[in-house]
Amino acid sequence: MSQLRAAAGRGLRRSGGRAAPPAGQSRKGASSRGGAPAPAPPPPPAQHLFSDPAEIEALRGNLLAWYDKCKRDLPWRALAAAETDADRRAYAVWVSEIMLQQTQVATVIDYYNRWMQKWPTLQALAQASLEEVNELWAGLGYYSRGKRLQEAARKVVSELAGQMPRTAEDLQKLLPGVGRYTAGAIASISYGQATGVVDGNVIRVLCRLRCIGADSSSPAVIDRLWDMANALVDRSRPGDFNQALMELGATVCVPKAPLCGECPVKKHCRARSRVEKELAFASQKLFGKPAPVPDVEDCGVGGCPLCPPAAEPWDSSLGVTNFPRKAAKKQPRAVRTATCVLERRGCHGAPEYLIVQRPSSGLLAGLWEFPSLTLAQDLQEEKQRKALADHLQAWAGRPVAARNLRLIGEVIHIFSHIHQTYVVYSLPLDGDVTLDPALSPSRWVTEEEFHASAVSTAMKKVLKAHEKQRGKESGPGKGSKRKRGAKTQGAGSTCPGTQLSLHAFLQAPTAP
Ligand code: SF4
Repeated sequence: MSQLRAAAGRGLRRSGGRAAPPAGQSRKGASSRGGAPAPAPPPPPAQHLFSDPAEIEALRGNLLAWYDKCKRDLPWRALAAAETDADRRAYAVWVSEIMLQQTQVATVIDYYNRWMQKWPTLQALAQASLEEVNELWAGLGYYSRGKRLQEAARKVVSELAGQMPRTAEDLQKLLPGVGRYTAGAIASISYGQATGVVDGNVIRVLCRLRCIGADSSSPAVIDRLWDMANALVDRSRPGDFNQALMELGATVCVPKAPLCGECPVKKHCRARSRVEKELAFASQKLFGKPAPVPDVEDCGVGGCPLCPPAAEPWDSSLGVTNFPRKAAKKQPRAVRTATCVLERRGCHGAPEYLIVQRPSSGLLAGLWEFPSLTLAQDLQEEKQRKALADHLQAWAGRPVAARNLRLIGEVIHIFSHIHQTYVVYSLPLDGDVTLDPALSPSRWVTEEEFHASAVSTAMKKVLKAHEKQRGKESGPGKGSKRKRGAKTQGAGSTCPGTQLSLHAFLQAPTAP
């Protein structure tokens, strides 16, 4: 099973997890638009190929021997090794592969163990509610992954008689959310199909092994890498070979400071050879000797579709990390959202918070959050406060005075493609609120219930900011701060005769 997840880098996102399966996975073999098939591209120069069968055998042997000795002990590996039922084994691999996309191994382990304990089979997962899935997934990010996993499990149970497709091709074709990478990983690890995989770690390793410096996210390069992965994969141990290649990228051939001295395939690495040649050349130049004759396998500069662009020459300070190269990443979109922690006191003074459910599609689909409103960029504080107060009116059922909203501060959260700023307000209430059932689902929760709900990491940060502010305000002489997890009264309960109505609160004179 794959376990890349080293530090982030080219090909990996902020979380340091596996990069998304590369674009262009399914483009291979596509014909040109509107007529005759596109002519086959010329074969790449020898420098970028694995063409010597003896070298391929040696590389496989070295890599597998290293993997047998050095692989990390991970729960999904243990499960896959022990499970004799092919469907259960494929399911165990599948769950790990989906969780590991974009997320580090260290983070995934606990989620994986809890998931497999709760839903050890496809059938168990198929019976779960989306709310349960979101609750378990909360904090793992990229929430649509959990939803799609469950949808696919339901499909296997209802349409495929509970049997997982048995080849990479069928897995990709029949299961929603399963792309070429995930299909290859499941098929090679669970069924022993000799099919390669290409993810962020494999891209990095292969690009270095074969000095591929063209944009590694381009379809042309990705297609070449798939060809290479399929040619290299060990025929007798395909699952282990694929995991070994990814493990190498995660632990040795890491993005920024690869451990080339410890690398089991250094003898086959052309990036390393290139570094040595460049050093030799630099030293000969220093002593006024003639430049060495280029190797017959070296690429000429320019024209080669797999070499670095001529405009980006070799940077000796980067060494092997000259490879791979990626086109500049698109800047994330900036979004500002006003959000309000509506708080009331339950019995015994324990705070309760109003959370509302997001729509069932789009970003953070179906998750719970504090009432929130997307703001226009550069909106003045006074106007954003007013806009939020108007928005909260829907929840309160009556006007909310903007001046009653207390500004807590800003919380930043980076989603894959969005730079999100939450402008956090709070509104303490002394009264109960009758929630309008016509609005989105909503409920009052204690702090414990909030953390057990399907809420995003961003919302947890918002509550933390709110608690921090409250802690400051209730410093010495201002009352004591409650500890997280202290026993609280269940949500929805009220202490009769102790509270004003929300209406009374909203209409009450406000602080200056
Ligand atoms: Fe990566 Fe270095 Fe090994 Fe080459 S020798 S594959 S650059 S770790």
